[in-house]
Amino acid sequence: MRIPERRISTSVLVIGAGGSGLRAAIELAERGTDVLVVSKRPRADAHTCLAAGGINAALATVDPEDTWQQHAADTLKESYLLANPQTVQIVTAGAARGIEDLERYGMQFAREEDGRISQRFFGAHTFRRTAFAGDYTGLEIQRALVDRAAQLQVPILDTAYISKLLVRDNVVFGAYGFNLDDGTRYVIHADAVVLATGGHTRIWRHTSSRRDENTGDSFRLAVDAGGRIRDPELVQFHPSGLIEPENAAGTLVSEAARGEGGILRNGLGERFMSRYDPERMELSTRDRVALASYTEIKAGRGTPNGGVLLDVSHLPRETILRRLPRVYQTLMDLQLLDITTTPIEVAPTAHYSMGGVWVRPEDHGTDVEGLYAIGEASSGLHGANRLGGNSLIELLVFGRIVGEAAAAYSARLTAQQRSASALAEARAEVDELLAADGPENVRALQRAIRDIMTERAGVVRDEEGILAGLGALAAVEARIENVGVHPDLAGFQDLAHAFDLKAGALAARATLEAALERRETRGCHNRSDCPALDPALQVNLVWSGPGRIAREAIPPIPDEIAALMHDVSTAGKLVE
Ligand SMILES: Cc1cc2nc3c(=O)[nH]c(=O)nc-3n(C[C@H](O)[C@H](O)[C@H](O)COP(=O)(O)OP(=O)(O)OC[C@H]3O[C@@H](n4cnc5c(N)ncnc54)[C@H](O)[C@@H]3O)c2cc1C
Repeated sequence: MRIPERRISTSVLVIGAGGSGLRAAIELAERGTDVLVVSKRPRADAHTCLAAGGINAALATVDPEDTWQQHAADTLKESYLLANPQTVQIVTAGAARGIEDLERYGMQFAREEDGRISQRFFGAHTFRRTAFAGDYTGLEIQRALVDRAAQLQVPILDTAYISKLLVRDNVVFGAYGFNLDDGTRYVIHADAVVLATGGHTRIWRHTSSRRDENTGDSFRLAVDAGGRIRDPELVQFHPSGLIEPENAAGTLVSEAARGEGGILRNGLGERFMSRYDPERMELSTRDRVALASYTEIKAGRGTPNGGVLLDVSHLPRETILRRLPRVYQTLMDLQLLDITTTPIEVAPTAHYSMGGVWVRPEDHGTDVEGLYAIGEASSGLHGANRLGGNSLIELLVFGRIVGEAAAAYSARLTAQQRSASALAEARAEVDELLAADGPENVRALQRAIRDIMTERAGVVRDEEGILAGLGALAAVEARIENVGVHPDLAGFQDLAHAFDLKAGALAARATLEAALERRETRGCHNRSDCPALDPALQVNLVWSGPGRIAREAIPPIPDEIAALMHDVSTAGKLVE
C-alpha cells in the first residue's frame, strides 16, 4: 500500500510543543503570522511538564533590593564564565515581562496574602527570585500556554515526527516528517522554522527525561541542515535519580529529601559525604553531591545495583508525609517502597543540556538562514552550570523574541527557492529506513549508546575513557547501518525510534569529542586527568560534525554586571 504524502504550507513552522515552542507560536499568532506547531509527543505532556521548582525573574516582590542586573551577575557567576553575557542580559532583563505574559495567559502563581507573587530561593541566587506554582510549576506553565494557543486557534499537530529540515543554499524552506500513527508523510513548506526540540540527556542510562524525549533530535536536525552545536559536553547531573524500575531510571528524588535531613550512605554503610564536604555533608551543593556519589560508585563502594542509599527513615513519619509527599508517593508508585522505613537507592542522573544549537544572542537565529532555535535545544545562557529556575524563564523570553524575529523574517521574504533534491533526499531517508530489514535492534543500540555515555562521559571523565567511548561509539555507528525497522498496527513508533537512534549517536559523538577537547575541570565538567580550571579554555567549543571543533571567544562581561558578581552561599536553598 502506498502511504500518502500531505503538503502543508505555513509562514512559520515551530517544531516542538514544549514551553519554548508554544511561547513562540503564541507570539506569532498574536502578531497575525500564520504558524503551525508540530510535535512528537502530546502537547499536554511535553518535557516542560516535569519542571517542579520554579521560574526566575527579579520581580523584587519579596526582596526589594533585587534587580535584573544582580540576576545577570548570579547567572554569569554560576556559568563559570562560559555563558554569553548578551544572552544572559536579554533573559534577565526580559524575565519580568515573561512572568507578566504567563499571568496574562492565566497562569496561577503562588502568591502572598496581599496578592504579590511569592518568590523563594532556588540554588545560588543572591535574592529570592524564583516564582512557582506549588511543586508543579512546569505543568501549570504548560497548561497556561496550551490554553492560550487554543484561544488563538494555533494549529498543533502532535503526532508528527520531523526527520529532516528542508534547506536550499543554506536557507531553510520547511521540514519533512511523518505521522506517528498512520505513517502519512508530511512535506511542510515554511518561510522560517523554529527548532524547539529539547536537549540530549536521554542518551545517558540514568536520566530525568522520560523515554523517547530529549533524544538529541535538535542536534541532528540542526547539524544536518548546516548548523553547529555549542558546548555539547556541558551536561548537568542531578545527584539523586532512581535506579529502578528500568523504564523509570533517573526519575528524580527531590533534593528536598536531603534538605529535610536525609542521609547518604554507600554500599558499605558509610556516610560518605564526610569525605567530600565534612561541613555541609548532605547539604552540600548539587554538583558536589553528584560528584561524591559518582566517585563512591566508581570506586566500587556503591550498592550491588550501582547506586548509593538516600535514607530518610530516621525522620518522624509525619514529617516525611508532610514535607516529602511527592517523594513518598513516587517511591510507592514506582517501587512499592515505603521511605518511612526503607532507604532509597539513587545514582547521579543526566538532567539538563546546557549546550545546544549555536545561536546568535540577539534573536537566536542559527547559521542557517530562516532557522531559529530556542529553549533547551539552544545554547548561550547557562555555560558550565545552570542556575536553578533559569531554563523556564529562558523559554518565555526567547520564545517571545524568536516569535517576533521569525514573524519579521517571514514578512520581509520576497521570494523563496525550494529544492527538489533536498525533498527527494528527505523522502529517500524515510523510505530507506522503512525498508531496512537488518538484524540489529534499534532499542538495543540505543541502550548501547546509553551504556557508553554512562561509563565514559558521566559525572567524571578522563582522556582514556573518552577515547575508549569514541571507539565503542564507532562500533555502534557501524551497527546502525544494519538495523531492522518494523512499523506495526500500533503505528510508526519503530521508525521514530530509528531516527531517535541516529540523533542519539550524533549527540553522543558531539559530546564525547567536545569532552575530549575540554581538558579542564569547570562547573559540571569534571576531568579527573585535568582537575584544574584552565583560563585558556574560557571559550565555547563549537562542534560542526565529526572531528570538527572550533574555539569561540566569549565577549567580555559589562563592568556594571561584573561588579555585582560574588560567591553566593547555597546553604538552606536545596530545591530542584
Ligand atoms: C524533573 C525536572 C525538573 C525541572 N525543574 C525545573 C525548574 O524547576 N525550573 C527550571 O527552570 N527548569 C526546570 N527543568 C528544566 C526545564 O523543564 C526544561 O529545560 C524545559 O522545560 C525545556 O523546554 P523546551 O520547550 O526547550 O523543550 P521540551 O519541553 O523538551 O519540548 C520539546 C518538544 O519538542 C518535540 N520534539 C522533539 N523532537 C522532535 C521531532 N524530531 N519531531 C517533532 N517534535 C519533536 C517534543 O515532542 C516536545 O514537544 C526541569 C527538568 C526536569 C526534567
